[in-house]
Amino acid sequence: MSSQQLTVRFWGVRGTLATPGPATIRYGGNTSCVEVECGRRNVIFDAGTGIKKLGDHLSARGGAVDADIMFSHVHMDHIIGIPFFAPFYGAQHRIRLWAGNLLPKGRLEVAVRAMMSTPLFPIQVDAFKAELQFRDFAAGDMLDLGDGIKAHTGMLNHPGGAVGYRLECAGRSVAYITDTEHRSHELDPTVLSLVRNADLMIYDCTYTDEEFPAYVGWGHSTWQQAVRLAKAGGVNRLAIFHHDPDHDDAFMQKVEVAASKAYPGAFVAREGLVLQL
Ligand SMILES: [Zn+2]
Ligand SMILES: [Zn+2]
Repeated sequence: MSSQQLTVRFWGVRGTLATPGPATIRYGGNTSCVEVECGRRNVIFDAGTGIKKLGDHLSARGGAVDADIMFSHVHMDHIIGIPFFAPFYGAQHRIRLWAGNLLPKGRLEVAVRAMMSTPLFPIQVDAFKAELQFRDFAAGDMLDLGDGIKAHTGMLNHPGGAVGYRLECAGRSVAYITDTEHRSHELDPTVLSLVRNADLMIYDCTYTDEEFPAYVGWGHSTWQQAVRLAKAGGVNRLAIFHHDPDHDDAFMQKVEVAASKAYPGAFVAREGLVLQL
């Protein structure tokens, strides 16, 4: 596997609510969706509105899709794109959907069926033709996705819970950590263990440290906390992610300047960005 390249594509970087329009054209308005391509396998983090274009990309590429969709959690901004992911409608595709914050009371399939139900949505899950598997696990489990791809997981600090991932593939590691709220003056040991020495850390930077006190309890973190974690964990590159809908391009550009000064590997995730690791 080590000769394979690992490609990361950002299809949606916005948090909370899709935010199209001229003020967000540079960084993008679609909600969370990040694709990691490793060999013939696609691992997809979250199915926000960004997954629509990913589905179109995979359809245009042709061939059978063999993908795992790893949900951080099932808040609307992370699942709203599910019905618009074209491969769900093709019988030749195999797609596994994973969530680790719902057991023992909840199930991923129940949540997705609830979103796609009358009177909220016109089409039901039964319209999907792909071979689907809903897999609930407990945050903290190590998931073997096959073909040498492994995902370490951990529970994040978010209302209702959310799962952070560390994906290891082809000798590379990508940490996907959203949505999570930090506690001031402390580095979350679960997050730190997931990001340690990662080639890429993608982190919930909804707020700045200056804004944070007004939003304690909302379940999100800051770019400054991301930098503190990246420094402590020896992370190579840090992607500032899950942008607040109120942070326009001018705001995010200032964040990017300040963050890259504070940590040379830091950058603001932008819709359409492709990284080779
Ligand atoms: Zn979110
Ligand atoms: Zn959330």
